[in-house]
Amino acid sequence: MSEEKKEEEYRLEKDQELRFEVEARATATLELLDGMAEIFGTELTKGKKYLFESCSKVAVYTWHGCVVKISFVTEVAYIADGTPMTVYVNVHAALEQMRQKADEERSRGPRVMVVGPTDVGKSTLCRLLLNYAARLDRASVYVDLDVGQGEVSIPGTIGAAVVERPAEIEEGYSLNAPLVFHYGHTSPSSNYPLFKMLVSRMAECVNKKTEKSKKCNVSGCIINTGGWIKGAGYDSLKHIAGSFEVDVILVLGQERLYSELKRDMPDFVNVILLPKSGGVVERNQHQRSDFRDQRVREYFYGPKKNGDDSFFPHPTEVSYNDIKLYKIGAPALPDSMLPLGMKKEDNKTKLVPLQPGTNILHHVFSVSTAKSIEDAVLECNVYGHVVISGIDPDKLTATVLSPSPEKLPSSILLLMDMQFMDIDM
Ligand code: ATP
Repeated sequence: MSEEKKEEEYRLEKDQELRFEVEARATATLELLDGMAEIFGTELTKGKKYLFESCSKVAVYTWHGCVVKISFVTEVAYIADGTPMTVYVNVHAALEQMRQKADEERSRGPRVMVVGPTDVGKSTLCRLLLNYAARLDRASVYVDLDVGQGEVSIPGTIGAAVVERPAEIEEGYSLNAPLVFHYGHTSPSSNYPLFKMLVSRMAECVNKKTEKSKKCNVSGCIINTGGWIKGAGYDSLKHIAGSFEVDVILVLGQERLYSELKRDMPDFVNVILLPKSGGVVERNQHQRSDFRDQRVREYFYGPKKNGDDSFFPHPTEVSYNDIKLYKIGAPALPDSMLPLGMKKEDNKTKLVPLQPGTNILHHVFSVSTAKSIEDAVLECNVYGHVVISGIDPDKLTATVLSPSPEKLPSSILLLMDMQFMDIDM
């Protein structure tokens, strides 16, 4: 696509925000010319050119006033007053006070859960709070339980990582050794018993991490959730709050959810209703699915940057004997057919062996850290992800696409709903 970029300068007064969206299959470049500004809590460097990819939705906020220049293909940009940034920064200040108190009393820092329906800015608020904390030299644990649009790893997983530095403007968090668990689906309702089990397991691991590191313990946790808030979704929020023993719940943009949580949470949990930013962009199912595909693609190719082709998937041929494929969850049985003492939900957390065949082609698989099937495979984290891109039934081999050219670190591969076709986009 030929890009005829036009340049536009914007002068922002203090407490204003420049919001812009990059068109599909286009890019935009942003430069701070004067003053100070930040994007979701990360400060911009004057004179540096930032590149934003296709479909990015960005807000440049300034506390003191600034001038920025954007080069666009088309202009979808406007300056907004009346952002909720002052409210958000007050939340940050209150969390920081809790951290200081925890530091003095050698106790645990705030455990914050961010909840709300889809597209209210939950992930953005998490990013803001994590960035502000990192700018004060905190090391908060970011727990991302949003299996559909998560940021720690690819969709279909839940993950956690320590955030010690503000996220990069263009590339997001630079996460060092994240802890990732396989879930397999992009909605927590697809296998709720498994989701619940993984949340409890993640909480155990986060507790172990914070017990070991005083800095993480004092800095606390920021927990992002998906937009599933009704029925069993609400039950899942209570389960998350209980498992992580959260003491602050930030509810974005929904009074009903706020009053339900206020009613149901124990007294020591501070439930706070926050306004949604008018800039948050709603995404339809199609855009959500595109975002998921983009995340998987980025997993293999790295973030798209001009001319950077240092990351790409490596195809390796492996014998059927060297891989053990499983999916989690057997088909539901009627109550009358269940073995004695077994509950219906137990089937949902069963490992079901799979034979290599066309039905698994192009599916993403998680590479489990479990050494054998006797280990509690579901409770083991994953090394990463691969795709089965081909099978040869005559040679009994499969082609595995992996981000690393090395041999697979484990033979136990867990099926995900997500698929990936390695075609040029
Ligand atoms: P989901 O429930 O799907 O995970 P969410 O509630 O976490 O959604 P976000 O992902 O934080 O919502 O925000 C949705 C989109 O809106 C993102 O692309 C984000 O970059 C954009 N966005 C958030 N705040 C602003 C803003 N103030 N101005 C412009 N865009 C924004």
